[in-house]
Amino acid sequence: MTKKLLVATRNSGKVREFSRMLSGLSFDVVGLDDLGVDLEVEETGSTFKENAVLKARAYAEASGELTLADDSGLVVDSLNGEPGVLSARYGGDGLDDEGRVQLVLDKMKHLPGWERTARFVAVLALVGDDVPNGLATSEGVLEGAIMHQPIGENGFGYDPVFWLASHAKTTAQLSGEEKDAISHRGAALRGLTDTLKALV
Ligand code: IMP
Repeated sequence: MTKKLLVATRNSGKVREFSRMLSGLSFDVVGLDDLGVDLEVEETGSTFKENAVLKARAYAEASGELTLADDSGLVVDSLNGEPGVLSARYGGDGLDDEGRVQLVLDKMKHLPGWERTARFVAVLALVGDDVPNGLATSEGVLEGAIMHQPIGENGFGYDPVFWLASHAKTTAQLSGEEKDAISHRGAALRGLTDTLKALV
């Protein structure tokens, strides 16, 4: 029987992204809604790692399955690390992805290119009875800079304003596979590959 791996998210795009990146390993990748887990875990940590670990522990306990949780976000140097762990909620509940992007652009509108450095950060936490010491974590980083206006239709969140000088594109102009190969989530997941391989 294929081993189940719960990706602790309700975002079907993220479940798809992890399924795609894990397709080389024969896990049955499922999301919280596939298993009918209705627990909501608040992200009360002050770091990406704290949040990833608290989500992985809580959902592993609720589901009894091997559980992978992530916390990720955009860190902008000139905004003292904001939006950071607040990336998904930046500016409050009234804003959607587009509104949050606009808020970042407004706060940075007078800043020249060399003061627009930023990075995407992702931390993954894997929790399960068979995981050595019960917990494994991994961090991935993608360095870039914030544009003056959005470009590109792919991806989500802050992708349309995240500029990669190496590709002369924003991450919203990359295909899914191109983004996986360089992304913070891809890098974090590659850091867990050996641990995951030993569990299949
Ligand atoms: P999480 O679901 O708590 O990890 O929220 C992460 C938030 O950070 C997302 O809602 C996005 O706003 C932002 N974010 C994380 N990774 C990416 C990415 O790859 N592209 C664009 N935005 C991202």
